[in-house]
Amino acid sequence: MMTPTEPGLRVLVVEDEEPLARLVETYLQRSRFAVQTTGDGAEALSIAREWDPDVVVLDLGLPGADGIEVCRTLRTFSDCYVVMLTARAEELDKLVGLSAGADDYITKPFSPRELVARVKTMLRRPRGGARWAASSPLTFGALTLDPGGREVLVAGEPVRLTRTEFDVLMTLASRPQLACSRRQIIDAVWGPDWVGDEHLVDVHVAHVRRKLGDDPAAPDFICTVRGVGYRMGTGR
Ligand code: CA
Repeated sequence: MMTPTEPGLRVLVVEDEEPLARLVETYLQRSRFAVQTTGDGAEALSIAREWDPDVVVLDLGLPGADGIEVCRTLRTFSDCYVVMLTARAEELDKLVGLSAGADDYITKPFSPRELVARVKTMLRRPRGGARWAASSPLTFGALTLDPGGREVLVAGEPVRLTRTEFDVLMTLASRPQLACSRRQIIDAVWGPDWVGDEHLVDVHVAHVRRKLGDDPAAPDFICTVRGVGYRMGTGR
């Protein structure tokens, strides 16, 4: 059974397959979300600017500006959660290279019920720095993390991370030198109910590394722990 959600949370659905868009819209509305739907990327961006949605459900394969471009532009003005809809042929590693800045993804075909569950799980995550507010700033060489203000500095220069990227980084930073498995990171960031390809974590770690200027082959901040996951701290 689906439980009702806090009314008034806004979800923008961007999907050009009309029947799928309607289905998703119906399920979200049943859970008392306010929903707007469009099949057009440019229109999605103008709706997002005006309406300020809490979540955007974004199809990767759109005519014209594709989901990646839309997501990238969205990220220049919005900190909303983004769930990307991908077809099986569009592999996750494509997203690594294109670094779109989505928070989660779901592979087609999916059940609308599962999508709604994902959206709800994301919205249960604490807003802003609330989750980490009690921690004092952390330093790893040139990297400074201020959890309260959600600030990230590398050599004194601010780095802009998405909420999800920040939460992944903080999960590692809050237990420095200890390896975190992908599952532990998922539990901490996406929640224990999250089911899917755990390489989602790798996608986000790759984005964080790129933004921090951290070389995975000789890391200053995030080390890969082979067969396990990741840990915070230099590899040297
Ligand atoms: Ca499509």
